[in-house]
Amino acid sequence: MELETRVDGLMDGLRADLERLAAIPSIAFPGFPPEPVQQAHDLVAELLRDAGVPHVERLDLPDTAPVVYGQIPAPTPDAPTVLLYGHYDVQPPGDQALWLSPPFEPTPVEGGLRARGIADDKSNVIAHLGMLRVYEGRPPVGVKIVIEGQEEYGSAFDTYPPTDPERFACDAMVIADLGNLRPGTPTLTTGLRGAAEVTVEVRTLDEPRHSGEFGGAAPDALLALLKALATLHDVHGDVAVEGLRRDPWTGTTYTEEEFRSLAGVREGLPLIGSGSLGERLWSGPAITVIGLDAPAVEHAASAVVPYARAKLNLRFHPLQDPREAQRKLVDHLRALRPFGIPLTVTPGDTGPGYEAATGGPAYRAALTALKEAWGEEASYVATGGSIPLVNGLAKAAPGAEVLLFGAQDSMCNLHAPNERVLFSELRNTVIAMSAFVREYAEDFAGSDARGRQGAGE
Ligand SMILES: [Zn+2]
Repeated sequence: MELETRVDGLMDGLRADLERLAAIPSIAFPGFPPEPVQQAHDLVAELLRDAGVPHVERLDLPDTAPVVYGQIPAPTPDAPTVLLYGHYDVQPPGDQALWLSPPFEPTPVEGGLRARGIADDKSNVIAHLGMLRVYEGRPPVGVKIVIEGQEEYGSAFDTYPPTDPERFACDAMVIADLGNLRPGTPTLTTGLRGAAEVTVEVRTLDEPRHSGEFGGAAPDALLALLKALATLHDVHGDVAVEGLRRDPWTGTTYTEEEFRSLAGVREGLPLIGSGSLGERLWSGPAITVIGLDAPAVEHAASAVVPYARAKLNLRFHPLQDPREAQRKLVDHLRALRPFGIPLTVTPGDTGPGYEAATGGPAYRAALTALKEAWGEEASYVATGGSIPLVNGLAKAAPGAEVLLFGAQDSMCNLHAPNERVLFSELRNTVIAMSAFVREYAEDFAGSDARGRQGAGE
């Protein structure tokens, strides 16, 4: 109760700081001005200093925006250290005509604010700040705070942390770049699917040939490609490529209605695939055709198509090896001979998935903290999207427990027009983070957690 009252008293100030931060168009994509990125960096550093973080430095890594790095030493030798992660850069706003208000003018909406980046991830930067204010800069744990400036465009954190492990050494990390399954449902994300890309192409003729004169016998590249793509799924829409891991999903998931509405599925249409949504979205594979090179309908000539190409995006089980998963898809395609025609298959980028170990003291503390904040038991979910930096940070601090929670929710239009954040979620996230460090410090002091960790798992 005391903590709630304290956080409520801080909310006006946190809202004002969130509005300041969200008014800065800190887009770290090529072609956008670098000054606002710098400005957002400076504001975050200033807010942390003002919140009592004694050591705040600017970390300049190659080919990325400056990182804000702050440190608060552990208050006692037996207190744990918690690393807090967030990012201050944002996605470009996209088509401004689709926005109901200018993307960099934070605008009130029911229960919250609308602006680009106000949820992803400035809400969570402010939530970290809120926790620090609750403890007036002296939380019961040691803190390392890392606020990155180029997460949305090729994060340096995918690869950098393991090269500087001392800087990221900690007992637990709160990677706050996501949020709840739905507003009001406290959520810990424990799994992230991996991702891989594969390109497949077919050349059958030197040039297009009159479809009246040649169609019927000349091998059609587009037909061959479509026939190949059609083998990737069975009649139900489940992935039909052998060797891609699929396990039952044991956590919570969306209701079908929620999912339909989130995905914008047209009235009366079925979803594809079978089994639970969690299994289809999180603990099983998905293959999406994300691009196709073929003549456009508008410019279509009456000719047999000599060349066609498709780009496939594969999402796979959090624990499947990325190269292995990619190879399964590549092998599947290479083995095909649509109409007897071989395909040229080229593997592209891969990114590993992630599955958190949920049995340690930080998870216990987080479950208590999230329940205190939202008044109900936390749910475990996964996400189909990948956050490669989670692996980067986890590799740098291999003994640390990794917690993924925050002030976003799945209905806040991330990366889409009219992004918004809810004050209820922001407030509860501040409470959850504050309660988490309190619970974790108590549990840690009262146990031999450190010894257990040193012994390895
Ligand atoms: Zn983000």
